[in-house]
Amino acid sequence: MLNKGLVFTNDNCTGCNRCIIVCPILGANYAREENSLSRIYVDGEKCIHCGSCLRSCNHKAREYKDDTEEFFSDLERGEQISLIVAPAFTANYSKQYGAVLGYLKQKGVKHFYSVSTGADITTWAYLQYILKHQLSGGISQPCPAIVDFIEKYEPSLLSKLIPVHSPMMCTAVYLKKYLKNTDKLAFLSPCIAKKVEIDDANTKGYVKYNVTFSKLMGKIGDVSMDKQAAEELEYGLGSLYPMPGGLKENVEFFLGKDQFIRQIEGEEQVYDYLKKYAKRIKGKKEAPFLIDALNCSKGCLYGTGTEADKNDEEEILMELQKERGKSQRKDKKNPFDPSVPESTRLIRLNEHFKALDINDFIREYNHNAKVAEREMTESDYQKILKEMKKDTLEKQKFNCSACGYSTCKQMAKAIYNGYNKKENCVHYIKDELELEKACIHKMTNELKAAKVAKEAEYKNIFMIFDKLHTSIEELGEQNEHTAVDTLDMSEALEQLRRYAELLKDSLEEIEKFILDYENTNRIVVNISSKTNMLALNASIEAARAGDAGRGFSVIANQVRLLAEKTKEAVDESRKNSDALLPAIHELKEKSKIFVDTIFEVNEKTKTIAATAQEVAVQSEVIGSVSGEIAEKMEKILE
Ligand code: SF4
Ligand code: SF4
Ligand code: SF4
Repeated sequence: MLNKGLVFTNDNCTGCNRCIIVCPILGANYAREENSLSRIYVDGEKCIHCGSCLRSCNHKAREYKDDTEEFFSDLERGEQISLIVAPAFTANYSKQYGAVLGYLKQKGVKHFYSVSTGADITTWAYLQYILKHQLSGGISQPCPAIVDFIEKYEPSLLSKLIPVHSPMMCTAVYLKKYLKNTDKLAFLSPCIAKKVEIDDANTKGYVKYNVTFSKLMGKIGDVSMDKQAAEELEYGLGSLYPMPGGLKENVEFFLGKDQFIRQIEGEEQVYDYLKKYAKRIKGKKEAPFLIDALNCSKGCLYGTGTEADKNDEEEILMELQKERGKSQRKDKKNPFDPSVPESTRLIRLNEHFKALDINDFIREYNHNAKVAEREMTESDYQKILKEMKKDTLEKQKFNCSACGYSTCKQMAKAIYNGYNKKENCVHYIKDELELEKACIHKMTNELKAAKVAKEAEYKNIFMIFDKLHTSIEELGEQNEHTAVDTLDMSEALEQLRRYAELLKDSLEEIEKFILDYENTNRIVVNISSKTNMLALNASIEAARAGDAGRGFSVIANQVRLLAEKTKEAVDESRKNSDALLPAIHELKEKSKIFVDTIFEVNEKTKTIAATAQEVAVQSEVIGSVSGEIAEKMEKILE
């Protein structure tokens, strides 16, 4: 039932811990972190619905649930509902009371009854029970927050809790059992905790709705309707129950003031008192005759479900005084006539309720509702103190209550039980912050030292950048030159290539010329062969001619010799050109390769020139960037 009970925390919570301060129950509030915010939620099983946190929270972060919405929607659906009205309502809204009941009548409520009648029955049943059982030290039980507390946290007092129904329940039992009312009953209630009572199996579901003043008035606002009166069942001093000491006044009215009735109220006192009282009973010490205990310091008149801050206290008390006056009329049967002695009043009271069976108004309590809490041993405590950094006696006794608990030990117990965490202790946070501060101080010094080292490094880097800048500039310039030189080289190579082409062409022409020359030689050889033959024939003819032919024969010989010489010369020349031709051919082929190679080299040279130009341009860019970096670094170092 974490934050799902009657009382719960909404999103307004700031984690201010005020609810923990005012809460009488250690584990009813628990701290949780949400979105880095510490919030305090309600554990519905541990909460006793005392309403203290609702009154104290300055951030409207605590709310409660009742049955107002269900009551109205059931009326709307035509459910038969009667309303029992707490006397505190009449006192709080003396002027609006009739109009509010008129409004509810119009909405469908069947009957209205004042709880004051049931309160008189409660007084009667108390007296019956106490006198019959000779009970002393009994605790009154009209307050469900007190009952809830005893059941959950001090069950050893259950035997002292008087087993008589509250005025609300006595009214309900009377209506159901004696007036045979078959409607569902709603209680117009000053109290959040009444919901726990009506849901308790020991109250048998007689009342279905807890409609608190605050929620009802918030829903209907100011109504101007025809007034409607409650169907007045006769009642006496029961109307005083909602005020502090109301039950005491009732009991003393019938038994006198000889016995000690301890009156105690207010969340700040009553629960501590009950804890001490349990010890007293355990120690078999003398106890008061009766304890009239209420959770709220001003009683149910300013109960947890009222608009306590809206209504005028004087008006309320005056209204109650009027009620007291009304009940004390002089009448020989009236048990509340103050002019007769207490013993007569008691006789009259018993006479007044003689038709009732006391067993109908007796109730039981839950003996198994005790909330278990882990008991913290000394070593657990020491361990938690250590975790909280409370390592000295002085620190262990801060007890500043900023966490919401009255002592550091209580906080340790809350941590031990998982209700809170050490981070909600301001001194823990302070110590953490101091450690953090020391850490930051150390880090600042380290940073300073690191800064000095970094500055030196920056200086180095700056110098390197400066050098780099210069080198890049130089590189740029050199590349510029390289690009120009390479272009010149490319032009020279181009020229060389053209010369090589010319050489290749010349060689081709020489080769062609030699081939032509060889053809010519062949013709000459042919002619010289034919000439030789002719000369031979001529010499033969000259020999035949004898002396006449002698001169001719000499010439023919000379011609033949010339022809032979010509042939020899041509043969010699052919041998030379045969030897020359392969050499020229090879030279021509190599010239071709030379031309191609020069072409390739030139292409590469051009690429180098382009690259060098690009490098020169990029060097300029890098040079200007590195220059800028160097400039900025110089500024950082200033
Ligand atoms: S009192 Fe409690 S519920 Fe209200 S804001 Fe503070 S911590 Fe949250
Ligand atoms: S209603 Fe009472 S018991 Fe419940 S959380 Fe609030 S202060 Fe604690
Ligand atoms: S004193 Fe009254 S209003 Fe307050 S908790 Fe008890 S019964 Fe409810």
